[in-house]
Amino acid sequence: MMNRRDSVGVKVGEIQIGGNAPVVVQSMTNTDTADVKSTVRQVMDLAKAGSELVRITVNNEESAQAVSQIREELDRNGCFVPLIGDFHFNGHKLLDKFPGCAEALAKYRINPGNVGRGSKRDPQFAQMIEFACRYEKPVRIGVNWGSLDQSVLARLLDENAQLSDPRPLAEVMREAVITSALESAERAVSLGLPKNRIVLSCKMSGVQELIAVYQALAERCDYALHLGLTEAGMGSKGIVASTAALAVLLQQGIGDTIRISLTPEPGADRTHEVIVAQEILQTMGIRSFTPMVISCPGCGRTTSDYFQKLAQQIQSHLRHKMPEWRKKYSGVEDMHVAVMGCVVNGPGESKNANIGISLPGTGEQPVAPVFEDGVKTVTLKGDRIAEDFQELVERYIVSHYGPNQEHQTIAE
Ligand code: SF4
Repeated sequence: MMNRRDSVGVKVGEIQIGGNAPVVVQSMTNTDTADVKSTVRQVMDLAKAGSELVRITVNNEESAQAVSQIREELDRNGCFVPLIGDFHFNGHKLLDKFPGCAEALAKYRINPGNVGRGSKRDPQFAQMIEFACRYEKPVRIGVNWGSLDQSVLARLLDENAQLSDPRPLAEVMREAVITSALESAERAVSLGLPKNRIVLSCKMSGVQELIAVYQALAERCDYALHLGLTEAGMGSKGIVASTAALAVLLQQGIGDTIRISLTPEPGADRTHEVIVAQEILQTMGIRSFTPMVISCPGCGRTTSDYFQKLAQQIQSHLRHKMPEWRKKYSGVEDMHVAVMGCVVNGPGESKNANIGISLPGTGEQPVAPVFEDGVKTVTLKGDRIAEDFQELVERYIVSHYGPNQEHQTIAE
């Protein structure tokens, strides 16, 4: 396993970011925060899916006023996920006018490029930090490539122009992103906010730029780092780009909390970004969240979609049950379940998983051998193979991960 970069730990409610804590998964709502009911519902969905922190937009008085109601409603429903307020331009006014909002949030996100224009930038930034000090809240100083503080960029471009051998523009722009984050953090510290209440991020939309910026940032400071590719995009492109960028950094031990900024497809569930974040961490062996389903891609030997449906059904069932199982069955998130399309690789993968099934391929006997802990225990047949296998998985979980069970993991 890779060594994690040392960083100063930051407590956000009960969750710790950095300081050797496990990498934290977070997400952001896309509801109108002033719509308390919809926002509460979505925060609860995200938290149930495994988001350990949830960020909400606080962009106007209506939304700032709604924040404390949202917090109360979540608490009433037993959902204690810390809320992060995302502020741009008017955060200093909103935190001043709505103390309930300032109190209910567990962290404030400040974008140094959007804190105020011209001469308003420094005093408004200072006001945000003063609120963080007064309410004892941590902040994320979140620089975004698309809203970079233009005064920092202009200064670095001027300095670069004076050099006998000026650096390429792309390099100066990357440096401006890093400088904006580090100078803002230094300023926050000089205003009285301790280092253990500061998380930094420098989000870029290009994979190579993101990797280069975070590698440099990680070398130059020990602040806890929030990783994410901004404007990652939609569907497989967004997932692939985010994974490509984050996997390189996480493998180098860089990154204390992650968010996957996917553009949701129309009607798609917002929780998808949480699942992708968890899957990146789990497939890299960094953290486990849900039993992993290993399934083959299928080929000419699988002429029906039966095994695809079974793999999907098992995966959804495991995810659906995890909030309950997490409390009852310690270690169940490390379990591996194999769902294979035929007997070519099926029994081998099934033996290596905790529990696995090989469905009959075309022309094979209509029977499905099941292996548990490497041993064939039963052969399923008939119309209820899917239901029977699901029951076997549940029985396996109860017998192997229930109280006082010594469970065997196959991760070693
Ligand atoms: S396990 Fe069987 S069905 Fe699946 S890809 Fe391999 S040969 Fe094809």
